[in-house]
Parts: sequence; C-alpha cells; structure tokens
Amino acid sequence: NWDERGAAKFVQKNKNLHTGKEEEIVIKRSVKDFKFGKTLGFGSYSTVILATDKNTSKNFAVKVLDKRHIIKEKKVKYVNIEKNTLNRLGSRNGIIHLFFTFQDESSLYFVLDYASNGELLNLIKKYGSLNEETTKYYSAQILDAIKFMHDNGVIHRDLKPENILLNKDLKIQITDFGTAKLLEKDSVGNYPLDTRAKSFVGTAEYVSPELLNEKSIGKPCDIWAFGCIIFQMIAGKPPFKATNEYLTFQKIIKLQYAFTAGFPMVIRDLIKKILVLNPKDRINIKGIQNHLFFDSINFNNNNNNDNNQYD
Ligand code: ATP
Repeated sequence: NWDERGAAKFVQKNKNLHTGKEEEIVIKRSVKDFKFGKTLGFGSYSTVILATDKNTSKNFAVKVLDKRHIIKEKKVKYVNIEKNTLNRLGSRNGIIHLFFTFQDESSLYFVLDYASNGELLNLIKKYGSLNEETTKYYSAQILDAIKFMHDNGVIHRDLKPENILLNKDLKIQITDFGTAKLLEKDSVGNYPLDTRAKSFVGTAEYVSPELLNEKSIGKPCDIWAFGCIIFQMIAGKPPFKATNEYLTFQKIIKLQYAFTAGFPMVIRDLIKKILVLNPKDRINIKGIQNHLFFDSINFNNNNNNDNNQYD
C-alpha cells in the first residue's frame, strides 16, 4: 500500500477486540526500510543522503540530523519548526514533501522528496542568467507556491535561489523551512497581517527593508525576496549585494539597485512594483499574477491541492 509518490505506507488491518471494528495501524518506518546511497549535500547541522525505499524502489532525499549536535548548537527549535511547517503544508506541487520522520539513538531522519535537478542557484550559475521565458516558467511556479504557503499561514522568511530545488521534471520545490514563521489564526479565523521578529533570520541579500527597519515580518517579506529572485534570474546576481552584510543592508534600506543592460522592460516594471520600501505599498500576489509579465500564465487560484495550470 503506497501513496501516489511511491512512499510505502505500511498499513495493517487489525480487528479491535473491544469494539469489533476493523482498524488501520500505520507501521512506523525506520532506517532499515531504506538503502542509503550518495551524499547530496551538507547543511550547517545536517547531511542529506539519497536513499531508496526497499519496498518501492523509489528515491528519496533523507535529511539526517545529529541529535547531540542539534542540542549543543541550540537548534532544536528550528528542527521542530521545519517539521511542523512541512506537516502543515502537506503534499503539494511547489513545496518539498516530508513523507515521514523517524529517529534512532543518534539521529533524526526526515524523508523528503528527492529533487534530482538540484538548486535553482546552480542553474542560474551554469548559464550566467536565464532568459525571459525561462524566468517566467520558474517565477510563476515560485509565486504559486508562495501563495499556497501564505494561504496556509506560513511565511518562509528565507526565500532565495539556494532554497528552491528542481525535481526530475524541472518543477520547483521550495525547501528549508527551518526559519519559517507559522502564523496562528485569530478569534475570527484569520491569519494576522504581520508580526514582530524576535531575531534576525534570513539571508542578507534577500532580506526586506521592513525587517531591517521595524523588525516587522509579514507576507510582503516573501514578496520582496521573490522580486530579488526574479531580478537574479535575469541579471545573474541579486539586486542588493555588497562586500559585507552591513553595506548590503544599507543598499536595501536606501533602495539602491540598478538594472543591467538589456533587462526586459516588462520585468523592470514588475520589479519596480515589488521592490517598494513600504510593505503596504508593495504589490501583492494578486497584483503580480495580473501583471503583464504573467499574461500568458493561467494561475489556477481555486485549486490548492495538486495540479497547477502553469506548465
Ligand atoms: P543550512 O541548514 O545551513 O541552511 P541547507 O538548508 O542547505 O543549509 P540542508 O537542507 O540540510 O541544508 O541541505 C543540504 C544540501 O542538500 C543542500 O545543498 C541541498 O542542495 C541538498 N538537498 C537538500 N534537500 C534536498 C532534496 N530534497 N533533494 C535533493 N537535494 C537536497
């Protein structure tokens, strides 16, 4: 018994002796269910390894976290945020899927979708920059995934080309939810518009001016980073980049960036509407979807589950 992505779900049917009813028991997965292969990469407190499910022969990326190291480095909070966020977002195109988690004495294991085409950053580096059509192809998918996260009360806070992985079909899969903000619904069932950040998270080049100025985090932070990513796909480098973090922050709060020669006019127009210092004046997702740049894209806003219309 396995789901559509090939992850075996060991379900045993048992008769409950008290109620007489048949119940399904999901049998816990363990390290023994996987054959481990090459190392895909290293994080600051994790190793990601290619692993094959022995029952279905499907490949997964297994993130292995060393318990002692996580505790020593005080990263328990981030590991829990990553797990809780991925569980909240579930199985959806555009977001890396967490199938199961398990642990042994020394490590925690996150069994994730295997993104065989690596990071979007490496694609940009390989070609130097991307053309208008390719930029549209990837950015429409990224926008769609951001909308899904925001509709579910998740602010990513660290969107950048390194955290956008590509699967075998060259579809994007957003990853690295360790610094995400999970919003809680208010008494009438709405997510708050913004909240306060206790500490700086994210990456200097993609951080929003409102986080630097007011420690405010809201959905517009991710939109700002999205603008930086589109810029980088066309220009080959992010709009705000200096020799150190302090100087990068200065450029951001002064809105000091310049388009490279040949930067398409229609994308310049969109970027100018995204890279707006006041988050209240920044274009929102609906506005971006309706922008001329995405004229040929059919965003299917009613479907939060699976197939999107942007192929
Ligand atoms: P840090 O934790 O320091 O922010 P990170 O987020 O890159 O780093 P990991 O998420 O552990 O850390 O990823 C380590 C490496 O493994 C990354 O370089 C990434 O390219 C690769 N990787 C991570 N997840 C997958 C995946 N699902 N499929 C393929 N490769 C992956």
